[in-house]
Amino acid sequence: MTAPRSAEIHCDRVTKTFRSGARTLDAVSSLSLDIKPGTFLSLVGPSGCGKSTLLLMIAGLTGCSSGSISVGDEVVRAPRRDAGIVFQRDSLLEWRTVLDNVLLIPDLRGLRTSEYVGRARELLEQVGLLQYQHLYPSQLSGGMRQRVSIVRALVLEQPILLMDEPFAALDALTREQMILDLQALWWRTRPTVVFVTHDIGEAVFLSDQVAVMTPHPGRIQSVEDIGLARPRRLGIRQSAEFVAHERKIYEMFTRFGIIREPDYAPLAPAGAVR
Ligand code: ADP
Ligand code: MG
Repeated sequence: MTAPRSAEIHCDRVTKTFRSGARTLDAVSSLSLDIKPGTFLSLVGPSGCGKSTLLLMIAGLTGCSSGSISVGDEVVRAPRRDAGIVFQRDSLLEWRTVLDNVLLIPDLRGLRTSEYVGRARELLEQVGLLQYQHLYPSQLSGGMRQRVSIVRALVLEQPILLMDEPFAALDALTREQMILDLQALWWRTRPTVVFVTHDIGEAVFLSDQVAVMTPHPGRIQSVEDIGLARPRRLGIRQSAEFVAHERKIYEMFTRFGIIREPDYAPLAPAGAVR
């Protein structure tokens, strides 16, 4: 049987409670979300609303306190082997070359790495890194390192790709190139993607759907469908449709009080009674 190219992810009234001593904290509360196979979905929400926790639960790296998550027909109960994961900080191994880092997961799983070299090189070429395949991570820039991490997460052609603020540590210009590269990589095999970001523009550009989370404890406030034609070019960000999506999401953030307009009224003179 060939592995499915992408998988459906179903979160059903998921709650995650952390306990420390007598105190409990719901990081995620009764959260439901359906992600269709092959969808690129972004999760946006303020810091601390439970985005990373949700991603870890989907990956099976931490359990739900109540409710359930399933991938396809299977309830997630253990770390999943069918998901590539990319975190904000790349986790490249400094003593392995670029190519050997990309081949890490097949190697750890005891697969024949020679069977993956061709695909690894093809993906590296697609993101402009083939000429660096024999260098070590310390010889690369932050953007190049993160590209290697993404290629590593894709080399097994797994049906799910989970990304937790992968571009947050990169400068603005590098991020522009990264979103283009990520779209192009995703386009080829269309895994189901859950992409966590703070950046609303990045979310709209990359996604088929943007799920907006409420402040802590996290729930899904709304899911915005982004119907912009693909592949998208950077110029699309000036289009009326793109701007309308961004504005709608910003308005939600303002409504939650996550973004506040400051008070510009002059201060009363010292000693004045208001
Ligand atoms: P986000 O990724 O949206 O910034 P997180 O999922 O990291 O949010 O965290 C959500 C909430 O859960 C925060 O209040 C955080 O402090 C808390 N939290 C996360 N992980 C743990 C943990 N392992 N133990 C206790 N509290 C945690
Ligand atoms: Mg986080």
